[in-house]
Amino acid sequence: MGRVFESTHPLVRHKVTLLRDKETDSKQFRELVREISVLLAYEATADLRTAPAQVQTPLGTAEGQRLEERVGLVPVLRAGLGMVEGIWEMMPGAEVWHIGLFRDERTLRPVQYYNRLPVAPTVQVCLILDPMLATGGSAIATADILKRWGAQRIKYVGIIAAPEGVRALTAAHPDVDVHVAAIDACLNQNGYIVPGLGDAGDRQFGTG
Ligand code: URA
Repeated sequence: MGRVFESTHPLVRHKVTLLRDKETDSKQFRELVREISVLLAYEATADLRTAPAQVQTPLGTAEGQRLEERVGLVPVLRAGLGMVEGIWEMMPGAEVWHIGLFRDERTLRPVQYYNRLPVAPTVQVCLILDPMLATGGSAIATADILKRWGAQRIKYVGIIAAPEGVRALTAAHPDVDVHVAAIDACLNQNGYIVPGLGDAGDRQFGTG
């Protein structure tokens, strides 16, 4: 079974509370998505492989560590876009591969409309970035795409999850670790997470 990490970090809890608030405007919402994403990525990348490395300081030789694994950030369009920048600043060597999926509102199933992955994998670890793990359909479809591409290690990083989505993703991809800020009560009949935060895409891009 995939491992599921619900952050207990006080900063994450505080910022997610602000994020959920319907009075939070689009600008602050984007800032919070960015900040929460950095904190979650910090937790999700705690097991990245490093190799010993020496550097010369002004005073001598220091034994250090350098990242050995190349990371791919895989934002799911469009709501995942706001999660990229902050993480990328922290890991400027990461590659960013966009996956375009929209949810068919009738079937609630994901439909792919954008994918420019190169022929062969160029990274060792992929972080799927999508703020809302609702039914799990988009996350499962993205992990399917990445595995067909040849990705070896995949982690999902999201902000709010429904128990239904966590169950579906871990059942379909037991090897994919799930990192979220909060797991909420349930999905409503429209596939929205309750209490959630509403539509993460609309709230980021001011299109609600
Ligand atoms: N997507 C969203 O933006 N919000 C939800 O609650 C579910 C899916």
